[in-house]
Amino acid sequence: MKIRELEIHPLLIPLKEPFTISLGTIEESNNVIIRIKTDEFTGYGEAAPAPRITGDTQNQIIEGLKHVKKILIGKDPFDIIRIEEEIDRALRGNHPLKNAVDMALLDLIGKEIKKPVYKFLGGYRSEFRTDFTIGIKKPEEMAKDAIKIVEDGFDTIKIKVGVDPEEDIERIKRIRDAVGYKIKLRADANQGWSPKEAVKAVKSMEKYDLELIEQPVPWWNIKGLRWVRERVDIPVMADESVFSPQDALRLIEEKAVDMFNIKLMKCGGITNGIKIANIAEAAGMECMVGCMSETGVAITAASHLVASARNITRADLDSSLTLVKDPAKGGVKIERGKVILPDGDGLGIEDVVVS
Ligand SMILES: [Mg+2]
Repeated sequence: MKIRELEIHPLLIPLKEPFTISLGTIEESNNVIIRIKTDEFTGYGEAAPAPRITGDTQNQIIEGLKHVKKILIGKDPFDIIRIEEEIDRALRGNHPLKNAVDMALLDLIGKEIKKPVYKFLGGYRSEFRTDFTIGIKKPEEMAKDAIKIVEDGFDTIKIKVGVDPEEDIERIKRIRDAVGYKIKLRADANQGWSPKEAVKAVKSMEKYDLELIEQPVPWWNIKGLRWVRERVDIPVMADESVFSPQDALRLIEEKAVDMFNIKLMKCGGITNGIKIANIAEAAGMECMVGCMSETGVAITAASHLVASARNITRADLDSSLTLVKDPAKGGVKIERGKVILPDGDGLGIEDVVVS
């Protein structure tokens, strides 16, 4: 099997409603779809830039892909580790781009051997549940959103916080009062608090039975994460602090967090995502897989990652549901919070509508 062509397609898809986190608001998804073609098969990939988090933009991804195309043409997708080594040497960072390539190569491998990706990566599960995320609004509006999410069949809600600790506590209280205690709640501060604010806010949230608190303090403040972790009962999860397998190892060495949120756009693909999960497993830790503003294309790849690894016990893979349209045909189905893996070869994506 030899790679013959790399096609690059920019997307612009509005969100159903603006989505606000402590770092800012987004209103559309500016992703890039790629098709890596061999004589017989097409492998699909997606890069979802998140400039505030990964530092990428759509144009940078397109330029980077032109650079990477020279490396890909003529290669055998089965040599994925060697190909990715060459791309890493040619281009630092650029994790969304690297994810697009990684998932497309795995898609091609699966199509050639006629197996779904998650089956040859471990086949631990073929379905799992995802949460649904509520962006930052007034607490009473978030409580209304929460009721709708429960009516839609979700049993776990992720709540964006990280603005003002007092108002953040009110957000959690209002949502807990609205949905009762059978629904799981997890919160994500997206680096919005100082360590002292985080401890104050999280301790006040303990009575509302939060499952975990994600990235309470800035990404670079590893000692701050540990300081918070040592002072609260709710498990602390790293998101913006963990991009690479090396980051994961450092956070474990520093005893900074209880869990990792793995995202394809941070780690550069399923291949590195598995490395992070494995490092976590060796340390007795569980992981979640999350997303940026991804369409069903990358959400399907992320779902193959969740389905592959034993200690990926949580998923936050709702972004394709927040777009006005999803260009992915085939791929995962999300039914009332349940994510069902496709049984087609490779990623199981039949086509991507790019025009
Ligand atoms: Mg997060």
